[in-house]
Amino acid sequence: MSQSSIQPIAVLCDFDGTITQCEVIGEIYKKFASGNCEQLVRLWTRGEISTLEEIRGCFATIRATQHEMEKELVSITIDPDFPALLDFCRRHGYQFAILSDGLQWYIEFILNRFGISSVTIFANQIQFNPDGFEISFPWYDPKTPKRGTSKPMIIQRYHDMGYQVYFIGDGLSDLEAVHVADKVYAKGRLLDICVDNNLPVIGFSSFADLLNKISV
Ligand SMILES: [Mg+2]
Repeated sequence: MSQSSIQPIAVLCDFDGTITQCEVIGEIYKKFASGNCEQLVRLWTRGEISTLEEIRGCFATIRATQHEMEKELVSITIDPDFPALLDFCRRHGYQFAILSDGLQWYIEFILNRFGISSVTIFANQIQFNPDGFEISFPWYDPKTPKRGTSKPMIIQRYHDMGYQVYFIGDGLSDLEAVHVADKVYAKGRLLDICVDNNLPVIGFSSFADLLNKISV
């Protein structure tokens, strides 16, 4: 048996736009942020400011409570085959975790609504205080200064534990992960960037499609 065939596998997956069908944090900003938030998002998209600056700056303009924001989150849908992906990983003994440059709070809230719990999540943190929000970045790495959650750092941790890493993503916060993961499954903007730059990638349109491709 070759080394690679006995190496355990970890499936690490982005959240916004990959598990959900929209950019959740973008929806929160659209509904509740004001002031210079739109400008901060534009600067982030151009790579001119970091996720830390964007999230802290946008949340500083939000006056809504946690409960008011959660009332909006109930309209967010996830890919209907996400539970099937979790099942697939369980049956094959693959580790599964969410790597997100968004906030753990809304990821857990949305997954709970769909009856999904006990998923490992690496994401930025928000604490709701009576006088505002406190945002922290436990997975920050100075080697990826533009991101709050350093996806390459977490992938490297799985490598260090002996795992082969399959990474699934769709957007700009996944760019650095592409260079570190062993296999990349991408859709949306991330897929376009990988194709344009001749980076090895397997495109997918939905988790149903991904499950056909990952099973072989
Ligand atoms: Mg995304």
